[in-house]
Amino acid sequence: MIPRTIFGEEHEIFRKSVGRFVETEIVPNHSKWEKEGKVSREAWLMAGKAGILCCAIPEEYGGMGGDFLHSAIVIEEMARVGASGPAFSLHSDIVAPYILKYGTEELRRRWLPPMATGEVLAAIAMTEPSGGSDLQAMRTTAKREGDEYVINGQKVFITNAQGADILIVACKTDPAAGGKGISLILVEKNREGLSLGRLLDKIGSKAMDTSEVFLENVRVPVTNLIGVENQGFIHLMTELAQERLVQCVRAVANAEAALQWTIDYTTERKAFGKTIAAMQATQFTLAELHAEIMVNRVFIDRCIQLHLEGKFEAIDAAVAKLSSVEMQGRVLDRCLQLFGGWGYMTEMPIARAFADARQSRLAGGAIEVMKHIIGRSIVKR
Ligand SMILES: Cc1cc2nc3c(=O)[nH]c(=O)nc-3n(C[C@H](O)[C@H](O)[C@H](O)COP(=O)(O)OP(=O)(O)OC[C@H]3O[C@@H](n4cnc5c(N)ncnc54)[C@H](O)[C@@H]3O)c2cc1C
Repeated sequence: MIPRTIFGEEHEIFRKSVGRFVETEIVPNHSKWEKEGKVSREAWLMAGKAGILCCAIPEEYGGMGGDFLHSAIVIEEMARVGASGPAFSLHSDIVAPYILKYGTEELRRRWLPPMATGEVLAAIAMTEPSGGSDLQAMRTTAKREGDEYVINGQKVFITNAQGADILIVACKTDPAAGGKGISLILVEKNREGLSLGRLLDKIGSKAMDTSEVFLENVRVPVTNLIGVENQGFIHLMTELAQERLVQCVRAVANAEAALQWTIDYTTERKAFGKTIAAMQATQFTLAELHAEIMVNRVFIDRCIQLHLEGKFEAIDAAVAKLSSVEMQGRVLDRCLQLFGGWGYMTEMPIARAFADARQSRLAGGAIEVMKHIIGRSIVKR
């Protein structure tokens, strides 16, 4: 087994405490949240108390002052138990960095500390009913009127929308300029004109709240602008690399867990007078999955390292996502097969993980979009 070398001693201590938190606070409640379609507010507050929210945000803004390795640990420990409900990483590693990097000092001081404690939950709204892959074609607009933006439009598939107190909304501040007219604006949920649609019924990730968001003449001060006006698309593309890396880290850890569940199950389960794991066909499958996971594990660890050094680029993120989430899909499918009929029963973690993981090939950029990014960069025009 190739050892992992990216984590230090202090990270491993942190991993133990995150693991304990996940076992005591997340695992016992997850199926209840799945039935309710959302994670309790209390769980977020407990996560904040345990220091697992916004761990890569500097201490002066209420975070732990850690790095992406701390974030990776939280993502991995959640993925290992199939905890697909709490969107901690979306809140901490996708939304918080926008406020930290592009928000004004006032916005940072106002929102980051309560995000770290779990008192304020955040979401990001890019996708629209007319399409999410082609973000430059978004239709939501923000018209400047004096010291305010007036936002009109509709968003869909927004994770955390029901629970969120703030949303970063991508919209057109210069509709005629296409992708060069997009801006990111922080919108407080309680602004007049903002309303939520249905809590969408998904095939997996049942505890994760995913909703439509409607914006009708929503007025926010221009000081809620995140980053530079009309450069929102560039900000989005810059941050999508970390968003995709989050998905890769989750994919590998989840595949590792699924393989372990399968080894455990097939070592106990018998057919034709021996355990399923004793059959060579099973061992060949397990060996193939082990190899696939290990190759991705080593590669994604290298990507994490490059990300920490500020050298992880959009193309690398596309390669990493294409490879790891496709691998996750194959692994979960083949593991499920080895559980027989039990693999199809939602009471089994493998069944839920199989359904939960399907979104990885869609959300945060469909697999075909990854291929498009890679293809464009390797084929000389
Ligand atoms: C569970 C879940 C959570 C999500 N959370 C969020 C969130 O928090 N915030 C948010 O803004 N969005 C979120 N999304 C939306 C997600 O990012 C979009 O679904 C995704 O970007 C695809 O957009 P679309 O669904 O509109 O598909 P479309 O853009 O309509 O594309 C449909 C399909 O067409 C194909 N396709 C598209 N472009 C190309 C291309 N260039 N080349 C070849 N084939 C192509 C792909 O197969 C793609 O799946 C979430 C989605 C899911 C499923």
